[in-house]
Amino acid sequence: MDNRVVVLDCDSYEVGQLKKVLQEGLNALQLDPHLFFGGKKVVLKPNLLLPKKPENGVTTHPNLMQALAEIVRENKARETVIGDTPGGPFNRPYLKALYLATGMEKAGQAAGVSLNYNLNEVDTPFPQGRVMKRINIAAFIHEADLLINVAKLKTHGLTRITGGVKNLFGAVPGVKKAEFHMNMSEVNDFAMLMVDLARLLQPALTIIDGVQAMEGNGPSSGTLKGLGKIIMAPNVFAADVAMARIMGLNPGEVPTIKMAEKVDCLARLADLDVVGELGEEKFEVPGGKREIKRLRNLIPKSWLPRFQTMVQPTPRFNWDLCTGCGMCAQHCPPAVISGAPEKRPVIDLEGGIRCFCCQELCPEKAVTLYRPLLGRIIFR
Ligand code: SF4
Ligand code: SF4
Repeated sequence: MDNRVVVLDCDSYEVGQLKKVLQEGLNALQLDPHLFFGGKKVVLKPNLLLPKKPENGVTTHPNLMQALAEIVRENKARETVIGDTPGGPFNRPYLKALYLATGMEKAGQAAGVSLNYNLNEVDTPFPQGRVMKRINIAAFIHEADLLINVAKLKTHGLTRITGGVKNLFGAVPGVKKAEFHMNMSEVNDFAMLMVDLARLLQPALTIIDGVQAMEGNGPSSGTLKGLGKIIMAPNVFAADVAMARIMGLNPGEVPTIKMAEKVDCLARLADLDVVGELGEEKFEVPGGKREIKRLRNLIPKSWLPRFQTMVQPTPRFNWDLCTGCGMCAQHCPPAVISGAPEKRPVIDLEGGIRCFCCQELCPEKAVTLYRPLLGRIIFR
């Protein structure tokens, strides 16, 4: 197991400085860029959750992608592609709008590399999977000789953090994501799916953009926090352990890290070989949905739905901010949100699975998470 993590200081998104910092990281990891990238088809996978401008801090910064893509191209990669499957639809017009808004189009042009428009997917067997033995992967990622996972340092309503491991969910195309949410409504099952995906994809390098981080109501509506750090690690799980620690979290409280420990693919914090200063910031992190399997045995079955409502967080809609765009209704896995375009949606929270896709994908910051008092007491 490769336990090396490099934590680099970087206080600006200036391309020249980012290039220097990335080179420094590659040197510290003893990765000769020419040998590492040369002759390969390299896919750079940023976090492109929504078509948001870089200054919103929702997506991986385009200047980081440009700096990285330039290094990859200059070191004679056979082909370099930037791409992600977003939270919304996976089709050409939406990708075009996404690349434009997030600055990826400009970044790709400046670095002389292409953006992905291949919409195919590949049904990929993974017999070692704990919760999935086959997973549909976007073809452009499946075809990569080298996958570089370029995540964003943010909080997340369901999994508490969205760093390296959660970023790989973007390898699953469009609506398939909702199917997974539907089939894995227990948070630990969903987290184990993320671990399966990470074990299947095995990115050669994970880079986490924490120059401008996000806390609070992440991953799309939180508060920006200038952190000034970039994390680089060959093992995606090690990158996330370091990231959790930097955010002031006990890594064991992060569902994807907890599940990774079960399949023994995780470097424990004490075993990490860290170059640079982890430090420890105080991040405002959502409590996340908690596993209630054990509590289930103590509660009569007929009380369970009511109990869930009393302890688990639920989405709260702010109708003053809602524009009726319909994004939440289109992507609610159990379809408990309905409504005509440009009208306030109608929600039946009783039938919900608390996946928080509505909160994640709302472009207007109109959805937040609310945990009832009893939940705050039990899961304190
Ligand atoms: S209402 Fe929101 S949290 Fe509930 S199931 Fe739908 S998308 Fe998920
Ligand atoms: S995604 Fe947000 S803005 Fe759009 S309809 Fe839902 S709550 Fe309203």
